[in-house]
Formats: sequence, structure tokens, C-alpha cells
Amino acid sequence: MSTRHSRSSLRKGGKLRLHRAGAVAPAGRDEDRADFEHRDDPQHRRCEQGWRRSPVPAVLIVGAGFAGAVYARTLADHDVHVHIIDRRSHVAGNAYDEAAATGIRVHCYGPHLFHTSMASVVAWVRRFGRWLPYEHRVQAELPDRRCVPLPINRTTINLVFGASLRTQVDVQTFLASQAVPCAAPRNAAEHLNSRIGPRLTDLFFRPYTRKMWGLDLEDLDPAVVKRIPLRFDEEDRYFPSDAFQFLPERGYTDLFGNILDHERIKVSLATPFHKSLLSGFGFCFNSMAIDEYFDEQLGPLPYRSIRFHHREEAAEYTRGTSSVINFTDASPFTRETDWSRLPGHASELKSKTITVEQPCDYRENGLERYYPVKTSDGRHDALYRRYRELAAKEGCVAFIGRCGTYQYLDMHQVINQSLAGANAWLAGNGIQ
Ligand code: UDP
Repeated sequence: MSTRHSRSSLRKGGKLRLHRAGAVAPAGRDEDRADFEHRDDPQHRRCEQGWRRSPVPAVLIVGAGFAGAVYARTLADHDVHVHIIDRRSHVAGNAYDEAAATGIRVHCYGPHLFHTSMASVVAWVRRFGRWLPYEHRVQAELPDRRCVPLPINRTTINLVFGASLRTQVDVQTFLASQAVPCAAPRNAAEHLNSRIGPRLTDLFFRPYTRKMWGLDLEDLDPAVVKRIPLRFDEEDRYFPSDAFQFLPERGYTDLFGNILDHERIKVSLATPFHKSLLSGFGFCFNSMAIDEYFDEQLGPLPYRSIRFHHREEAAEYTRGTSSVINFTDASPFTRETDWSRLPGHASELKSKTITVEQPCDYRENGLERYYPVKTSDGRHDALYRRYRELAAKEGCVAFIGRCGTYQYLDMHQVINQSLAGANAWLAGNGIQ
């Protein structure tokens, strides 16, 4: 069980895979609630059927993304033997990156921009590699091809309306004149219209949301669009509230290699989960989709997926001035990433790799589940809670991560939850 992996075993296969992938991505400020969800979670209870027998049984971890890797490393650091499996042929989950034919590093499942205000998460990830400062900026391309800052700020409003607002009060007064008041917004449309009015809502959010979620703003949980801040000044960073913003110097795949490089961690790639595996372990932390684990017996939980279209462009190619350009049009595409604009991603720029994202239902993309779908009526969350009731009866299996807990989580939130969950489980089992 203590077979140590070789570095090359963390990345099987060849160059960039096209049309198979998905983005984890950035999230909002409801971190504390989410981060401690597992602390008193019955899923993390002591496993009475065998844990702490001698010899200490090993733990199975399903999925080698951030959730699984953080659990694996934390347990291994406390002398627990861990076997981590992944059905894909690489580690790092949706954070996986590799060099494209242009030599440019590409995040194969969409841009992963690390940002957090949690010093404990920063301290943990810094154990496994060096990080380069990077403050993410995004522009939205208007129908007339002008690129303007997103999140909406004073510059955006002046450019869209041909206005010359100068102060924050000017912007607030202007937005108040646009807004449709709503005391208690029930959906993303009501939330946005009450803050920025229908014109900005319909320009920046309505078409994009339809493409991204296959839903109208009226059907979307307001929490999804609350991820995007609104600025009254000229602040144009995508994550203006986060104290720490950076990218792994040698990429996420290398970072995961370091996280999993431990004598008590065994990694098996191209290894799908099957319930028969459970009998060989004292406990299982499972990041697969919870509905998939239960063979969708209560019905499927919906997920959005993304098809990635990679293309090569001349080194001179530019579109806007930011690494990511969001599209406001009615095409099926949401955004484009110029990887050469991320620090450390292009050592020598002869040509560029550009990636365009086309969201779709996960059933149209090989059952690749990337985003849980959050509707304004919470119907999918209600179904998820029924799966959790099933999970509570499951014995020594705990569900973790984005698909295991059906939460729209960012990397730093997954890390924080997983550190808390792993430490709670260790404490619950009397392991110092
Ligand atoms: N959104 C939008 N227009 C944009 C950017 C975002 O309508 O230009 C909405 C859309 O519903 C999206 C949500 O805001 O799903 C959250 O955006 P974020 O950039 O956080 O999404 P992610 O990076 O996680 O895909």
C-alpha cells in the first residue's frame, strides 16, 4: 500500500486533449459557511467497523483533484496510508495543465486563477511549490467589438453609456436611476435589475448566463451572479477583495506531484471507482458525483460542462488587453483565454494558444461534470439533500469536493473545506 509514485506516473498520455474538459473557477464570499460544512458532518464520523484496528486500515480516496489531494496529503502526514485513484489518466482534476504544441502552458479544463484571503490556505499551498503573483483581470467584448472592464466599474459604465461619471457618488446616483428596486430579490434577474438596471443586466449577464447555464436569469440562483462584484470606482481586478492572488510557478500538475509525493500515498490513474473497492479499506473519501455513486436512483443531478476549443494564433494576436475576454453576444461561446498573458505560461513566444469555451449539458460532453446547477427555486439542491440522506446511511464513505457535495466551490474553498474535513476526521478517530 505504500508504493510511492514516480513523477511521470502523475501524467499519462500525450499533448493537450481537445474537447474534453472543464473549468473549476472562482467563487464568492460565503466561504466560512461552506468551509466548515464538514466539521460536524455525520459523514465524517468514526468508522466503527474497523478503524483503529491493528494494523491501521488504509483509506481510499476517489479523485485526485484538490479535494482528494488535500485529504490524501493531510492523512498521510498523520501516518495514515492512502490509496488515491482517478478515472482520468492524470492528477490535478480540473486544475490539470500541460504544454500545448506552441510550448505555452494551458489549463486543460479552463483558467484556474488562485485567489483567497485565507492565510491558512496560502500557507498550505506554499508548502508544495513557489507561486507567481498574478492579479486576474477580465474584459467583456461589446457587440461593437470594444472591450470594457468586467466586473462593471466606472470605466465600463462611461464607455457603455458615453457618460463621464467622475466619482463613486456619480456612479451610485447613475445606477440608482437605472435600477428597478426590489426589496428581496428571488432570482438573478431581480438581483441584477435592482443593482444595475435592465440595460447593463441584459448586456453583460443575460446572454452569457443563457449560454453558460442554459437558463434565463429568472431561473438562476442570485448567488451565482453575486460572485461578480460591482465597482463604483475604477478597480478592474476580477477578485478585488482577495489579499492573495497567484499562480503556481511550475503549473498545477507539478504542484499536485509535490502534494502527492509521500511515502504513504499510492496513486492509481485511469482507475474508475467501483463499490467493490471499498472492502479493502477502512474508510473512503469520495469526490465523484454523489448521484453517480448511487446510480442516480433518486434521479440525476444536473451539471454544466464545457467544450474547449484550442487554436493557434500568431504571436502578435491580441483581443482586448486582458488574459480572458468574455463574450456578450448570442454565440454559443462564453469566453476566450490567451494563456501567454498569464505569468510563467510562455517561456518563448513564437505563436499563441488561444482557448474558447462552449458550455453544454454534461450529457453532451461524455458525462464530464464541471458545474452544479443552482436554480432560483433550489430544486436541485433539494434533490442533493436527499442523496446526502442516503450517504449518511452508507457507512464508511464521505463525499467531498464540488461534485461530491454539489457546491459551486473555488479552489481555495475546496482546500479549506478539505483541510478542515481531514483534520476533523483525524481528530474523530483519535489520530494526532
Ligand atoms: N456572468 C455573466 N457574464 C459574465 C461573467 C459572468 O453573466 O461576463 C455570470 C454567469 O452566470 C456566470 C456567473 O456570472 O456563470 C459567475 O461568473 P464567474 O466568472 O465567477 O464564473 P466561472 O469563472 O466560475 O465560470
